[in-house]
Amino acid sequence: MANQTRETVDPIVARLRSMAQAAPELRTAARVYETVLPLLRDVKYAVPPLGISKDEARAKLQAGQPLLSDAALPIDDGPPRRLIIELAEQLENLAPKRGLWSRGEPEDQPAVTRAVAARQIRVELESNKLNVGQLLAMATGGDRSSIRAAAEERQLNADLLWTLLQFAMRPFFHAWREQLTPLLGDLEWNQARCYVCGGDAIIGELRGNEQAAHVRCVLCGADWSVLRLRCVHCGNEDHNTLSYLYPEGRREKWRVQVCDRCKGYLRIQASFEPTRPEFLLVEDLAMLHLDAIAQAQGYTRTTA
Ligand SMILES: [Zn+2]
Ligand SMILES: [Zn+2]
Repeated sequence: MANQTRETVDPIVARLRSMAQAAPELRTAARVYETVLPLLRDVKYAVPPLGISKDEARAKLQAGQPLLSDAALPIDDGPPRRLIIELAEQLENLAPKRGLWSRGEPEDQPAVTRAVAARQIRVELESNKLNVGQLLAMATGGDRSSIRAAAEERQLNADLLWTLLQFAMRPFFHAWREQLTPLLGDLEWNQARCYVCGGDAIIGELRGNEQAAHVRCVLCGADWSVLRLRCVHCGNEDHNTLSYLYPEGRREKWRVQVCDRCKGYLRIQASFEPTRPEFLLVEDLAMLHLDAIAQAQGYTRTTA
């Protein structure tokens, strides 16, 4: 056997490649994540402490409010601006060169369109025509329509701008989650939104031999335990109206908990360890087929 060069493949890239091999329909998205996610994992912003006291945190959580709600969030727009420029460059590089300025293969078209849109956003940022601080404040507040308006005013691709801003916010959210996690203490949080950032609960984990149920926030990476036989959306514990849907052939790995009282669902994966925060977007993508299974039967991700 010939000597093989042992290249170290980034673990995120390795996971994405094996996922795309098993599910070719995810190949395009996996390719984008291959360039974006290692960058997001490695970037570190200097994030000042939020200064939420233990008592304030307790009061908020007991009132059912996520810790970041109504908190003053100090956002330095320099590092995220540089990150968006870098991400845009990566997306530009993903387009096949022959397709960028001439007519490429039809399957190259989405990558070419995305590259052109990314370049327009990068150029606007580099010439300081976009107010990144303002856009980031909109992104943190989930104000997608204002971001759309800002994009349209400058004739930019609004969906791509939103996506890039979401990526650029992640290092802040991950730092805040690291700061605030100890404040949950022994308090219970049985909601379908994240106790740190208020993001929707869209991934459940059944962990270890005890099948302990946890919910994960894909935005900030938070992790909280919930009751296994209880709907996270409406609190229903009636086994007559709570059930599971399973994907064909992968029952041991995945399932969807569905509730006939509120029509909500939660995608659940079995895992021995908690998914590391930097892998949550990958697992979110890997579970896309579970959305199709649940939605085909009339269930929805969020019921609020
Ligand atoms: Zn969160
Ligand atoms: Zn329910």
